[in-house]
Amino acid sequence: AKNTKKESYEFFSPELLDSSIRKQEITSALQQALGNGEFSVHYQPQIELSSGRVIGFEALLRWNSTLGAVPPSEFIPVAEECGSIHSIGEWVLREACEQLSVWRQEGRPDVHVSVNVSAKQFLDLEFAEKVSAILSATDVPAKCLEIEITESVMIDLDTAAGLVEELQDIGVKLAIDDFGTGYSSLNAVKNIQIDTLKIDKSLVDEVLGSDRSMAILATIIELGKNLGADVVVEGLETLEQVDLMRQYEIIGQGYYFSRPLPADKAVRVWDKYLEQ
Ligand code: C2E
Ligand code: CA
Ligand code: CA
Ligand code: CA
Repeated sequence: AKNTKKESYEFFSPELLDSSIRKQEITSALQQALGNGEFSVHYQPQIELSSGRVIGFEALLRWNSTLGAVPPSEFIPVAEECGSIHSIGEWVLREACEQLSVWRQEGRPDVHVSVNVSAKQFLDLEFAEKVSAILSATDVPAKCLEIEITESVMIDLDTAAGLVEELQDIGVKLAIDDFGTGYSSLNAVKNIQIDTLKIDKSLVDEVLGSDRSMAILATIIELGKNLGADVVVEGLETLEQVDLMRQYEIIGQGYYFSRPLPADKAVRVWDKYLEQ
């Protein structure tokens, strides 16, 4: 949209009206989504770059809605606003743990799954209890589940610190997601003990052809390691990027290896990497 001064003062711009109608449509479609079984989870492999081994998968929510396919970047913020993120988030956790349980029964005991958790969902005082109940019900060891949070959980540092402690007592892993994109990434890793640091795609994208970006990326990798965390580099799309990253002892994730896929297809990627 044009961003002239006049327009920015207009309250009922057509764009704004469209987006608020869309939001209402999404809000109301979300009410039925869980009951109608419209959600599914896709899995994207995480690969240890030094060995080529698949060490885990990130669970990514997909919504095949009455409005068509709506991407998480569009419906998650709406779900956070209208409160349905709690039930949706719990569903994703259970689904991911059930899948883990199946994989373990199929003889893949070492794999972990990382689940994205919104700040709203994470800061719910019953969150750790819910996680614990799901782990028991699905018979999955806590260490196989990783919770991905962003620095936004730091809005309420006291609550966040308490919850982190509860989760650590349970034994689930904690990852800080989208590292390097916000204003307070450092604050987040300063205040909580994390197991995994996930470096955002935007940092990786600039690396080829920019020495300054490369210096920043290398320093963040070092930071993660100095904090005792595993480092995951997100959004690797090309062999060039993968080759550049191979010199570091890190984990890679991205379309170069595989897009997020339904569990049965994701497993085939796994087996493919095992054969190499
Ligand atoms: P995220 O957690 O940073 O997830 C990574 C996103 O990058 C995913 O988008 C993934 O499909 C995409 N991606 C992975 N590799 C590549 C690549 O090589 N190139 C490009 N261009 N993209 C890549 P997706 O699945 O659309 O999810 C978007 C965001 O929605 C996620 O970002 C996460 O913040 C949120 N999200 C997804 N599932 C859930 C969920 O179950 N709960 C919550 N709270 N948020 C979720
Ligand atoms: Ca994530
Ligand atoms: Ca991310
Ligand atoms: Ca992201």
